[in-house]
Amino acid sequence: VMHNNRKEHLYKILVIGDLGVGKTSIIKRYVQQSFSSNYRATIGVDFALKVLNWDSETFRLQLWDIAGQERFGNMTRVYYREAVGAFIVFDVTRPATFEAVTKWKADLDSKLTLPNGKNASVVLLANKCDHGYDALWGSDGRMEQFCQENGFVGWFKTSAKDNINIDEAADCLVKHIITNE
Ligand code: GDP
Ligand code: MG
Repeated sequence: VMHNNRKEHLYKILVIGDLGVGKTSIIKRYVQQSFSSNYRATIGVDFALKVLNWDSETFRLQLWDIAGQERFGNMTRVYYREAVGAFIVFDVTRPATFEAVTKWKADLDSKLTLPNGKNASVVLLANKCDHGYDALWGSDGRMEQFCQENGFVGWFKTSAKDNINIDEAADCLVKHIITNE
């Protein structure tokens, strides 16, 4: 869509992963530049808008937060519909949330296909890295291999608390969405 000579894009982006990994905190940090240690688990569907102006193009990112349903470990096709990208988040302090990452990826890939037949772009977020990453997970090579084997376009160690790598992760996702269109 052209608007005031700017090309406009609207992207539906999902933020998924187990309960308590920091999905809501990441969205709040990215969109409102804020962090709080006590968000209540929202019930229902919630989304926030982030606008990126890159050169002559505007990207409106509609970030969809899972609100309470993540305890079931999967979402409906209707929820995923028309999304073009996703963050799958785990909590570096809870290995079980990393075990769940492949399950979330499989759920997404099985229920969402882009109009061109490709899978949506997905970036993996190792959140709460302010607790230390290397001591818990070792070298980065293991995660790079995991991403290649499981079809993630990239991964980042993030902290919603200390504002680490969230903008970088979003830029990476948007760039992949653009090339995937
Ligand atoms: P969600 O269930 O995935 O939406 O997780 P929340 O965003 O509600 O976060 C769960 C808890 O983890 C909250 O107490 C947050 O304050 C905390 N949290 C979220 N992100 C971080 C982070 O990057 N570092 C730390 N230390 N705590 C975080
Ligand atoms: Mg939440």
